Amino acid sequence: MRENIRSKHRLAIDDWLLRNGHPRYRCGQILHWLYSRRVTDWEAMGNVPKALRQALSEEFEICLPELVRQQEAGDSTRKYLWRLKDGAFIESVLIPANPAQAGVASDRKTLCVSTQVGCAYGCVFCASGLDGWKRNLAPDEIVGQVLAAETQAREETSGGDGAASRSEIERKGGERQVDNLVFMGMGEPLANYDNLLKALSILNADWGVGIGARRITISTSGLVPQIRQLAEEPAQYRLAISLHGPTDEVRRQVMPVSKRHPLAELMEACEYFSQKRGKVITLEYILIEGVNDAVSLADSLSKLAHQLRAKVNLIPYNMVDGLKWRRPSVEQQEQFFRALCDRGVRVTLRRVKGHDIDAACGQLRLKAERRKASETAV
Ligand code: SF4
Repeated sequence: MRENIRSKHRLAIDDWLLRNGHPRYRCGQILHWLYSRRVTDWEAMGNVPKALRQALSEEFEICLPELVRQQEAGDSTRKYLWRLKDGAFIESVLIPANPAQAGVASDRKTLCVSTQVGCAYGCVFCASGLDGWKRNLAPDEIVGQVLAAETQAREETSGGDGAASRSEIERKGGERQVDNLVFMGMGEPLANYDNLLKALSILNADWGVGIGARRITISTSGLVPQIRQLAEEPAQYRLAISLHGPTDEVRRQVMPVSKRHPLAELMEACEYFSQKRGKVITLEYILIEGVNDAVSLADSLSKLAHQLRAKVNLIPYNMVDGLKWRRPSVEQQEQFFRALCDRGVRVTLRRVKGHDIDAACGQLRLKAERRKASETAV
C-alpha cells in the first residue's frame, strides 16, 4: 500500500526529491499544493512537471478523508463522519466560537480531532471505546481531518470554493475556519504517540497547516510515561487531563486506566510537565449524575487543581445511546461550579455544544459501524 504524502515531513519529501534526481525547489511547490491549495489529485499540481507528478503518484497517495455524513446542531457545532482509505470511520467535531455559559468566553474555532479508530481504554461513559480499539491513525489521517473539516466549513460559510487555501484566505484578510485544535476525539492520543507527534509537526509548521503550538491541546486519560515524554518535546503543546474523578475511588468507577496509573502517580507526572514546560494544565471533568457531581467532591478536586495550578473545565455529560449515565441537572452543575469558584479554582462550565447531534465522542461513528456490520450480515 502506498504511503500518503501528507504523512511525510518536509525534510522527508526533500530527501525523496534529492534521491530521485529532482531539484530541491520542487519541495516548496509540492507543499504549496498539499497544504495551501489542499489538492487531492496529483494532476492539479500545475507547475510540477508531468514526469515528477507521475513519479510521485506511483509512490504516494494524496487523498483526504472522505466526508460520509455531517450533522449540525442548533448552536452551529458541526460533527463530521469521515471514511478512511480502508473503509474505517472516524469523527471530528467543529465547535464554533462562543461565549461560555460561565467562566471564560472563547473566540476560538476549535476542531476536536480523533487519533485512533476505536479506543482500548474503555472509559465506561464513552461511545468511542464501546467496540474496542481497531487501529492507530496514520499522521496523514490526523492532519487530513483538519484540512478536510476546514475545507468543508469554508464551503458552507462562503458558499464558494472550499479548496481555497490558507494563504488565499490570509491574502484576502479572511478568517480561518479552524484555528484551535483539541486532541480529544476518538482514541487515546498518547497511545498513538509517534504518529501524533509526526502529525503535530505538520499541523504546526509554517509550510504545513500553520496552527500555533499554543493553540494545540493534547488530552489524555492519564498515560503517565507519555506525559513525561511529552514534557521533553521542544514544541509548546498544551496538555489536558481527562480527570473525571478527584479521588482514585471515583476515578476507578469510570476510567479503567486509573488502576494502572493511580492519581498520585498522575499528579507527579503533571507536576513534572508543568514545571518543565511552564504551562498551565487543564483538568477536564465530565459531570455525570450520581458519579462525580456531589458538591462534597469539590474539596478534593480543588486541592488537585491548586496543587497543579491547573484550571478546571467542567463538561456536562453528553448522553450516549445504550449507556445508563446521565447529565446532572443545570442546578447541580451550577452548584458544583460555584463550589469550585468558592474554593478559588479557575473554572469554566462549558455550555453543552452539539447536544442535539450525536456529539458524545464516538457516537456517530459507532452508529455507522453498526449499520455497516448489519448490512454486511444481511
Ligand atoms: S474517553 Fe478517551 S480514552 Fe476514554 S474510552 Fe473514550 S476515547 Fe478512549
